[in-house]
Amino acid sequence: MKELMIATSNAHKVDEFKKMLEPRGIVVKSLLDLDEQFEIEENGTTFEENALIKARSIARHLNMAVISDDSGLVIDALNGEPGIHSARYLGHDTDYMTKNTIILNRLADVEGNDRSARFVCAIALVYPDGREMTFTGTFEGFIHDRIEGPNGFGYDPIFYYPPFGTTSANVSDEMKNAVSHRGNALKLLMEYLDHEEA
Ligand code: IMP
Repeated sequence: MKELMIATSNAHKVDEFKKMLEPRGIVVKSLLDLDEQFEIEENGTTFEENALIKARSIARHLNMAVISDDSGLVIDALNGEPGIHSARYLGHDTDYMTKNTIILNRLADVEGNDRSARFVCAIALVYPDGREMTFTGTFEGFIHDRIEGPNGFGYDPIFYYPPFGTTSANVSDEMKNAVSHRGNALKLLMEYLDHEEA
């Protein structure tokens, strides 16, 4: 039976991966199952590189197959910011109400299609024998004109998705996951794993 380590301590992410992988007979482990902690500097220049850096380092250390993901929000009018710096953008400890307000202010003079943005998620899969691949999903939308919606996290309250007619913070988790960057990257990973199993 195949065993995969998910390189995260985020229980929400672990659950999301388990829901997709366990029905496929894959035993899912995560950093929550380990006593040791990993401090890995994600110094890549793309989402894919950062996901690979983390997965490679843990796969080598544990000698098992590892999945890692890296995601963020890319805003075209801000030259791609916050991008790979999404978590630490405007300061790691700055709350998202403040970050989102600052972004809205920076885009005050930007209108219509020029407010385009996308969430991006790269999932890396690295085997201990050195085989490695990435799967990238996107979620295309626009920066809204205000903060709206109680759900989601991070930049969701300012991310307007036209098919929803509102932000990704104003719909259920299920609705968001069905079309989100992480959902789309996960679908590509599952297609690969199903194909590999066959
Ligand atoms: P991570 O790589 O999944 O930990 O995401 C890095 C950062 O990107 C998060 O801390 C958020 O700032 C942002 N981000 C990624 N995905 C989402 C999302 O679905 N909604 C809102 N913010 C997100």
